[in-house]
Amino acid sequence: MKKINLLGSTGSIGVQTLDVARARGYKIESLAAFSNVDIIEKQIREFKPAYAALVDEKAAADLKVRVADLPVKVYSGLEGVSFCGAEAEGEITLNSVVGMAGLKPTLDAVNAGKIIALANKETLVAGGKLVTDAAKKNNVPLLPVDSEHSAIFQCLLGAPRNSALKRIILTASGGPFFGKTRAELEKVTLADALKHPSWSMGQKITIDSATMFNKGLELIEAVWLFDVSPDMIDIVVHRESIVHSLIEYDDNSVIAQLGHPDMRLPIQFAITYPDRFPSPEKQLDLWEVGNLSFYKPDYENFPCMDICRNAIKKGGLIPAAVNCANEEANLLFRQGKISFLQIPEFISKAAEYAPDKPDYTLQDVLDTDILMREKVRELASI
Ligand code: NDP
Ligand code: MG
Repeated sequence: MKKINLLGSTGSIGVQTLDVARARGYKIESLAAFSNVDIIEKQIREFKPAYAALVDEKAAADLKVRVADLPVKVYSGLEGVSFCGAEAEGEITLNSVVGMAGLKPTLDAVNAGKIIALANKETLVAGGKLVTDAAKKNNVPLLPVDSEHSAIFQCLLGAPRNSALKRIILTASGGPFFGKTRAELEKVTLADALKHPSWSMGQKITIDSATMFNKGLELIEAVWLFDVSPDMIDIVVHRESIVHSLIEYDDNSVIAQLGHPDMRLPIQFAITYPDRFPSPEKQLDLWEVGNLSFYKPDYENFPCMDICRNAIKKGGLIPAAVNCANEEANLLFRQGKISFLQIPEFISKAAEYAPDKPDYTLQDVLDTDILMREKVRELASI
């Protein structure tokens, strides 16, 4: 029986991970989140983990009282999240925390020798070198949960001897604003941006999908996970979200992974790898799907993809800088304090202040986070 430590358990991916665990009878050793006491209490009562943590001190104190009848130990703070990922008994730590707050817990779990199932893409974008170096040193696999990267990972499993990968083709739904002009984008609201055409996800990633920053994050994530250069990665808009991504070999053979848009499949595959088992995903009926369409992305009106591509080409702390600036700009947009088109504008302007440091430490990334958030708030006159 698989044993799992689950970070970010109350979110969209966290809840779907527990669906998989429930269906397959996996043991949950720890649960961690930010402050959602009601949901985590229910999860603790159902899955009976040994440890739980909430970052928010008050919420953690409340949780401790609520679950006093159970043997679970409740921790608080980011250290509590790290403890749940690194010290609990699970052999796999699935990180579905949102944002680069997940970086330290990921590093701690890697250094404790846990297999990492990673949904938390901001971790790889902000600290790609730190995480991949630590994974190599500790000989632990980094297994993708993100659907595109799970697709690429699955396509690569069939690689023949002496095969050279030429290109990775990341598919993108295009989000709710695909096809819109700049004039139209000037007027979009938060409610419009939250209407994703094919995936139901947490709010931060839903806004990242609307700006296409999510695809930029995924490009950088692919660079680190598959050790490829940014120029080997193309993006294609595919509205139906059935083809989850493709790879191309040097003989021009292209391999794709297909399925309905249901995150429970990539979550389950990351947990069961190297095995495959039946999943709750609906069987794909190509007659029912009918047509699959593919378009070029609109790089002009959605500059976030190039912001990320250029950031990973520059390297050092620049990917961390654009990620952190985006986290703040995304939040300010959700709070109604900046407009949709100010998101890419402020990310580019803030990133100009990023320190030029090819080799960096965790502290450098954390300092860059503070600096970028300050710069974005300054630009927004907050
Ligand atoms: P949600 O917003 O739904 O959930 C986020 C989770 O992280 C919640 O459990 C939240 O706790 C917790 N959390 C928030 N801030 C912190 C913090 N500072 N420290 C510790 N925990 C924290 O996000 P999603 O599930 O949608 O996304 C999670 C990650 O997975 C993101 O990186 C996203 O990009 C990635 N991803 C998501 C996909 C999806 O379909 N949703 C698809 C592919 C990738 P609380 O509820 O208490 O606030
Ligand atoms: Mg994705």
